[in-house]
Amino acid sequence: MDFEMKTQKFRCPYCRAEITVLLDPSVPKQRYYEDCEVCCNAVEISYEFSDGKLIDFHASAEE
Ligand SMILES: [Zn+2]
Repeated sequence: MDFEMKTQKFRCPYCRAEITVLLDPSVPKQRYYEDCEVCCNAVEISYEFSDGKLIDFHASAEE
């Protein structure tokens, strides 16, 4: 199966800047850290795909 990368927008939990990330639907469930391109804080990204559809997405401050 061929999945297209999906772009997802969210607001940085630290500085509220709008950030766009690329999500890979071939990985059904992922959790990783993405540095905010504005304030450089690590934002915890977690998401879940089902049949190539994004069903869950969270961006939260590192604990
Ligand atoms: Zn930020």
